[in-house]
Amino acid sequence: MEINLISDTVTKPSHEMLQHMFRAQVGDDVYKQDPTVIELEETLAGLFGMEAALFFPSGTMANQTAIKLHTQPGDEMICDKWAHVYNYEGGGAAFNSGVSCRLIDGHRGMITANQIVEAINPPDFYHSPLTTLVTIENTTNKGGGACYDLPNLVEIKDVCTKNKLKFHLDGARIWNALVARKQHPKQFGQMFDTISVCLSKGLGAPVGSVLMGSHDDIKKALRIRKVFGGGMRQAGYLAAAGLYALQNNVGRLEEDHRRARQLGGFLQQLPWIEKVEPVETNILIFSLKPQYSETALIEKLKQKSIFISSLGKGKLRIVTHLDYKEVMHNYVLEAFQKMTF
Ligand SMILES: *Cc1c(COP(=O)(O)O)cnc(C)c1O
Repeated sequence: MEINLISDTVTKPSHEMLQHMFRAQVGDDVYKQDPTVIELEETLAGLFGMEAALFFPSGTMANQTAIKLHTQPGDEMICDKWAHVYNYEGGGAAFNSGVSCRLIDGHRGMITANQIVEAINPPDFYHSPLTTLVTIENTTNKGGGACYDLPNLVEIKDVCTKNKLKFHLDGARIWNALVARKQHPKQFGQMFDTISVCLSKGLGAPVGSVLMGSHDDIKKALRIRKVFGGGMRQAGYLAAAGLYALQNNVGRLEEDHRRARQLGGFLQQLPWIEKVEPVETNILIFSLKPQYSETALIEKLKQKSIFISSLGKGKLRIVTHLDYKEVMHNYVLEAFQKMTF
């Protein structure tokens, strides 16, 4: 038995999800003739109260399409220094859109309205890049699964409106935030120009992300997706997994959060742990006291078939998910308890 806590992307489709995929009605989605893809897009647009949606092979492509949609070459995007769009999308903002990033020194991956105000270049000052887009992440990935408070987002939205900036949400893990904070998707839908969501993280689908926005923006996004090579043919088999996940795997995220919380509380009491970051959702970040080595811990856990990852600079990460069951959880707690250096 292997216990993989490296990411919530490591889940494999369940038997029931696979059955659902097998039974999907499909067509050629490049001609917009796949009924299951259309059903998924309409379901998500409806859920978030947005006009339209488009299915993507990855969250990266959905975010990169949003950046391309909202900017012109030479423009600047504001985001947190830890943002996925800046750190983990291969420099795509520069490569695909010719856009520079103004990085904000946020708190756990979250930025404030005041920080954004200070980062906006004066639009008439033609020497500096034109600020046109703000991208935030909810929950934050590198920030340890932290969630924004809605009033803070409303403040950011106001700044965007006043300064004519587009507002994009990288909602790869929005599902975790919705469950943890008991929020409604429409509260997000009314605030953002575009939202990307992943079906392949906590929801357990093998592939798939969706970008939502206005009719006009999604029409433009269809062309950009084509240019990026993201048009897929009988993609309904994949969309069916997403529909199944939306039906069955959202509410249960609470279990992942509980296990991450329990692990956090448990680790806090161990003598060789320096610090455990607050656990809000399914991501747990912790550090070891200076005399203990991360690589040694990762190696010792590996010998017990438990896999966790290093974030560098002394930080370690555990991510709970659908395939991390209660028996495994008990085994992991015991393994940490018995750990000696
Ligand atoms: C995983 C993730 C994405 C998208 O990643 P893909 O692997 O391309 O699907 C985007 N943003 C955040 C915050 C993520 O965690």
